[in-house]
Amino acid sequence: MRVYWHDEALAHDTGAGMFDQGPTPLIEVPELHPENSERIRNIRSMLRKGPIVSHLEWHDGRYATREELELVHAPAYIDSIEAACAGSPGILTQATPVVPASWGAALGSAGTALSATEAVLAGDCDVAYALVRPPGHHAQPAQADGYCLFSNAALCAELARRRGIERVAVVDWDVHHGNGTQECFWTRPDVATISFHMRHGSWGPHHPQTGAPDELGDGDGRGRNVNIELPVGTGDEGYRRAWARVVEPLLAAFDPGLLVIACGQDASQYDPNGRMCVSMAGFRDLGAAARRLADAHCNGRLVLMQEGGYGRTYSAYCMHATLEGVLGTGPLLDDPLAYLPDDRDRGDAAIAAVLAAVGPYWSGISA
Ligand SMILES: [Zn+2]
Repeated sequence: MRVYWHDEALAHDTGAGMFDQGPTPLIEVPELHPENSERIRNIRSMLRKGPIVSHLEWHDGRYATREELELVHAPAYIDSIEAACAGSPGILTQATPVVPASWGAALGSAGTALSATEAVLAGDCDVAYALVRPPGHHAQPAQADGYCLFSNAALCAELARRRGIERVAVVDWDVHHGNGTQECFWTRPDVATISFHMRHGSWGPHHPQTGAPDELGDGDGRGRNVNIELPVGTGDEGYRRAWARVVEPLLAAFDPGLLVIACGQDASQYDPNGRMCVSMAGFRDLGAAARRLADAHCNGRLVLMQEGGYGRTYSAYCMHATLEGVLGTGPLLDDPLAYLPDDRDRGDAAIAAVLAAVGPYWSGISA
């Protein structure tokens, strides 16, 4: 399989502060903004040095053209992003800062995503992974959001439609709702969008909670937008079940010609921005499930798009595991941070055990 990369990804400097909130005098030692270049440098090094290396063929990406961005974005919005970068340091939303180099990075991210898609559509490879940054799935036709400037996965789906693929499916397993992709195809019957995400509550006016199951799309697109909103701590088994019971039957009926995966690692058990407890084994299974679906319905055509993933080292392990699943190699790398077992009683059994133990020594206390 191919991996597409563009060096501009490293130039987008999002700064440092208190997580994604910028500097505060209360904090003496700030941390990098969670969407930083180090996280994808580690994914790159993992895929270049890990045991999967012999399966991967690296290719350079390119810049997107203005016309390509207009596949899903409003012209005035594209102008506003260019101006915000030029006038920087700028703030697109509270958590989405830009600097002058962010413009080239955003064009490189979108163009590299399109390069990966073009290679799959041309039959140069069955599977391509675009290791891009900034991410895209929160970017809407006319609104930046959640660290995202241009909607990379949506651009790729729309390109495939214009190149003759009749139906395209976008499955998003980033831990956050793919609200940008949802909005791009809200009324469209020809692009099915399915987002797995954590029910996380609103992050303020720029990133309200969306992604409820009754957000179905409108008009001819009604029912083609599918939201799998999962509770905090769902874990590997919950993701497996959601894929088997929702994604597999719906996309078997939809029979897409291309599968695009919005591929974040922030559902991992060690992500500062997610609380879903998915381990390397879970990501390996998701990768395998995506490949099975692409083989069954899309002549093998599968594009993986890098989205979030903020555990700066563990995300790289999760991406390696994802590609082990996609390539069917079986486990090649052990999970270095062990495994959090699914423990679904939310503490009830533990509380009962405490009460049973101390109960005899306290009047009126029992399990
Ligand atoms: Zn995310």
